[in-house]
Amino acid sequence: MRSHNAALVLDLLRGAGEAGISRLELAERTGLTPQAVSKITARLRAEGLAAEAGHRASTGGKPRTVLRLEPSAAHAVGVHLDRDELTALLTDLAGTTVALRRRPVDLGAGTGPVLDAVTEEVRALLREGGEERAVLGAGVAMPGPLDHRAGLPGRVTGFPEWAGHPVREELARRLGLPVVLDKDTNAAALGLALRPGAPASFAYVHLGTGLGAGLVLGGAPLRGDRTGAGELGHQTVQLDGPPCGCGGRGCLEVLCLAAVARGELAGAARILGAGAANLVRLLDIDQVLLGGRVVLAAPEAFADGVREVLAGLGLTAPVGVVAERDAVAEGAAWLTLAPVFGK
Ligand SMILES: [Zn+2]
Repeated sequence: MRSHNAALVLDLLRGAGEAGISRLELAERTGLTPQAVSKITARLRAEGLAAEAGHRASTGGKPRTVLRLEPSAAHAVGVHLDRDELTALLTDLAGTTVALRRRPVDLGAGTGPVLDAVTEEVRALLREGGEERAVLGAGVAMPGPLDHRAGLPGRVTGFPEWAGHPVREELARRLGLPVVLDKDTNAAALGLALRPGAPASFAYVHLGTGLGAGLVLGGAPLRGDRTGAGELGHQTVQLDGPPCGCGGRGCLEVLCLAAVARGELAGAARILGAGAANLVRLLDIDQVLLGGRVVLAAPEAFADGVREVLAGLGLTAPVGVVAERDAVAEGAAWLTLAPVFGK
């Protein structure tokens, strides 16, 4: 295990990108002594995690050597196991996708066949490129509720047979890799939180085959002790409304998906806006980010609809759309990458 200080240095190298960063700047930013930084960077270079990125002129003395992260030093697998589709991708150490595979799945086909499909796709992904890569592990994101600490899904709405199945353990055994399991929304939120310039607190509101939110407060995902935070889709917004698979009535998810099914996108956007407004009022967040397949099919309609609801309530949090189709799978890879950077 690398030290906390090495993780700090690696994270600054990551943030500096191609341009790189000098040892002196690393010392200034970490508060470590230049000697300590030199020791750490020498070790990171020996391990192949950092490399020289040229020289930069400095005032007075000799030009400073600039260091950068070596993205090809390690890779991670990100899996988005959705209700009807499986996406598996391979990223480098900087989180850039280098290979991707996608296929339809039916989460209702049972744990055996679905985990067979995940295993096949990940193995195929690792074979692609043909070279021997150092793979840190696999992050797997699926619909909640689930327990990320135990690596167990909960009672996924409509797919009760997944409840309590040891998904993390089984995939780790089949793949021979460390596996982290988390909710789709948490994975996406983590990936977004680690982007340079990300707001300190935001909600990632995902509308796809379900509706949920990943919450980031103070730069870190808020999962709750039972991974139960962010179950936005099952907030009651209509007392005695239509029944929901969760056992409740008038849940945001059931109302919003019904509006989408009727083709009433403006209505669906208003319902989503009501949910987003509840989050902004409850958590005082900086930003609302919308994503997921249904949003990406009509991004302006959803962003405008949600903005209108917030503005009507005098809420000023900006509303954005996460345009990347694979934000969840990319975030799943970050479940494995983040600890390298002390996140
Ligand atoms: Zn519900």
